[in-house]
Amino acid sequence: MADTVDLTALDRWIREFARLIAEHKEMLTELDSAIGDADHGINMHRGMTAVVTTLESESPGRPSELFKRTGMTLVSTVGGASGPLYGTAFLRMSATVGDAEELDGNDLAKMLRAALEGVVQRGKAVPGDKTMLDAFGPAVEALEAAIADGEPLARALDAAVRAAEEGRAKTIPMVARKGRASYLGERSAGHQDPGATSVTFLVAAAATSLV
Ligand code: ADP
Ligand code: MG
Repeated sequence: MADTVDLTALDRWIREFARLIAEHKEMLTELDSAIGDADHGINMHRGMTAVVTTLESESPGRPSELFKRTGMTLVSTVGGASGPLYGTAFLRMSATVGDAEELDGNDLAKMLRAALEGVVQRGKAVPGDKTMLDAFGPAVEALEAAIADGEPLARALDAAVRAAEEGRAKTIPMVARKGRASYLGERSAGHQDPGATSVTFLVAAAATSLV
């Protein structure tokens, strides 16, 4: 049963994501200054700092509660497009895990697939629109494929990180068709998408803290 993750591990994941966002806050904002309004790092840092504060004031009792609080805090503290999108992702994770106390690789893949679908429904973007989906989508697909192949969770998560990183790089030449960057039209090409960059930190945090 080494390949299951419990509330402690999932809590570590959220905190590690917050730490990576804090560490890369300026970089995320710089990416957003090229094709947006220079606030993605500030937005995500504000949101994840508030998340850590709420987790510290009262520890959640089960994974669904951890994700629900994370999602609700992001929705209420992040003003930009990323707040509702990340918020929806975590709220979908909460609904998908239900009463489970421990999650295996399959559960994690299902949970992240539901999160991805939530972002699609909320933001109506498709692959290639130069959004967070272009890193998150390939990551979820890689995770699902590795789990289906019977890979241990650590290797499956590493494959997801590599897919996210490749997807993130592929946003550079893309012309944005959703979000503020789309206002720039062709001029949005040549810059890495901020949301694809932050979501890669979410996947990277999973790989280092869940196993
Ligand atoms: P805002 O654009 O409101 O300033 P942020 O700067 O925090 O919000 O977030 C920008 C990121 O949000 C983009 O880099 C992109 O990845 C993501 N994004 C914007 N619109 C959408 C959408 N409709 N679907 C998916 N992701 C989106
Ligand atoms: Mg912005």
